[in-house]
Order: sequence, then C-alpha cells, then structure tokens
Amino acid sequence: MYNIGVDIGGTGIKIGVVDCEGKIVYRDQCSTDVKGGFDKIISDIDGVIRRIIKENSIDASQIGSIGFGLPGYIDKNGKANCVNLNWKKVDFINSLKNTFPEFDILAENDATVAGLAESRFGSAKNSSSSVLITLGTGVGGGIVINGRPFSGAHGVGSEIGHMIIGENFYDCNCGNNGCFETFCSATAIIKYAQKLLSEENAPTSAILDMCKGDISKIDAKIVFDAYRQDDQIAKEVIARFKKYLAIGIANIVNTLDPEVVAIGGGLSKSSDIILDGLKEMVREHITYKDEEFADILIATLGNDAGIIGASILK
Ligand SMILES: [Zn+2]
Repeated sequence: MYNIGVDIGGTGIKIGVVDCEGKIVYRDQCSTDVKGGFDKIISDIDGVIRRIIKENSIDASQIGSIGFGLPGYIDKNGKANCVNLNWKKVDFINSLKNTFPEFDILAENDATVAGLAESRFGSAKNSSSSVLITLGTGVGGGIVINGRPFSGAHGVGSEIGHMIIGENFYDCNCGNNGCFETFCSATAIIKYAQKLLSEENAPTSAILDMCKGDISKIDAKIVFDAYRQDDQIAKEVIARFKKYLAIGIANIVNTLDPEVVAIGGGLSKSSDIILDGLKEMVREHITYKDEEFADILIATLGNDAGIIGASILK
C-alpha cells in the first residue's frame, strides 16, 4: 500500500509515492506556476501524479490517499490561504476531490507536515509529542500531539515563528515586532550582522573579508564560518541568535512540554554551533528547572520531510 505526498513550495512542487515505512519509492516534480493561478497549479499536479502512476505501472487501488503540504494554512472548511501563491480562500480540498475522486484528499501547513514526518520516521521517532522548528529564511513550526499534527481550532495555530519574544530593531513580514523569526532565522542573523558592521567604530571582521566588503552579500553561512574563526562580530551575532533560540524553545517547553524539540531548516547544518550548550540555556528559562524536559535534536529527514509528512496525513 502506498500514499502520495505533495510538497507545494513557492517555486517548485515535489511529489512522491511513499510506502508504509516512510520511504519515497517514486518521485517527480514540476515548477509552481504562480502566475498561471490556482487552476493551472492543480492541473500541473494532476499531470505529474497521473504520469508517476502510469510510468511506474502502479495499480491505483494500491494508493490510499493524496496529502498536501502548503506554504500557508488550510481552514476548517478546506479553503487554502497561501500569500506566496496569491491564494486567498481557494476551494482547495473540494477542487482536489473533484480532480481525484478515487483518493482521499488531505492538506496541512508545510511545517506541520514536516513535523509529522519527523515524529513518525525521523528525529522524534517513537515519541508521542514533538515540535519541529525549521530555521531557514523564516522560522516554521510543526506540532505533533499524541501522534497527530496539531494546527489549532481554526487551522491557524502552530505559527511558532511568530511567537513574540522581545523587541527587535526591525519588524517581521507579518507586520508585528519581536517575532521569534526576526531573532532566529537566517534573515535575522544577516540583518544583525549588517547592523553591527554598519556601526561607527565597528571592529574589523572576517565577515567583511568573506563578503568582499559588500555587506549586502552576507549570508548565514558566512557568519557561522566567521564564528568558527573566533570572529568577534560573528560571536556577538550567534550569541544573540542562541539567546533567543533558547527563549523560544523554553516557551514551547513551558506551554507543551513535548518529548522532543527537533531543529531543522538550512541553519541546522551548523548543528555543532547551535546545539553546543543549548539545552542548559533553555533550562535557565523554563519554569520547572529541576525536572526532565524535551530532548533537543537535529531533524533528520531534510527536504524529504514535506513529501513524507504529507503522505501520512490520513
Ligand atoms: Zn511575525
């Protein structure tokens, strides 16, 4: 028996046929035709799924469900809202049921499905409750409670990246100030490094050598590399990043007390720097400091988490 997982991103759509062990046995993809609109995207997905089934001679009766991870949220009436795709209350579930009347159709936020995949087959395997935090351009969150994804009463929950955890020198894309993702994303690291380097009397920094003096070229990898060279500015940027990461995780522990907090996304490649001392930093901020609390681990499924998680939504 197989299920199909579809990971819809802002630029590309990844589709996989997944077996019961969470292994992607066939995969294909297409680009996301945002300009073509909702109907074009659905028709492209339809084409790719029919092609995978045909090319691999899969008996359609062997496929249980098609699940989708969306870069936005799906409300309780099955309507999808995705800013990057210009989707505002599009009739997602009904349209897909009309396109694929032979299969069960399910959908959830992309970070939520990635969290589900980690909980079933990845870093949080064998746990009943876990939270995935994805540290990338922004910060995403996926909450799993008793083995099921949780996105709240109205579908708009688990937006961990928009927990407000302090005052910051720039506003979040969502319009608020002080969101977790404005302290702990790659964007946050870049902006804070640029701010420190622009200050009067800023010390000289390896970051400037690596970006050839053009601070608009700084990326998070440059800052982590400079940190490894004991660079003063990089150490300040990473110290701030980790301080707020610890505060954010402490808020999650205080609220949900999950068994596992998994860290994924592009920044998790620097796991040596991120995990070093992090658990003790979190302990300083939690309420019950003498009790055991969540294991803090690095996510293991990488970019496949979206496809795998979408395939097990049923
Ligand atoms: Zn925000």
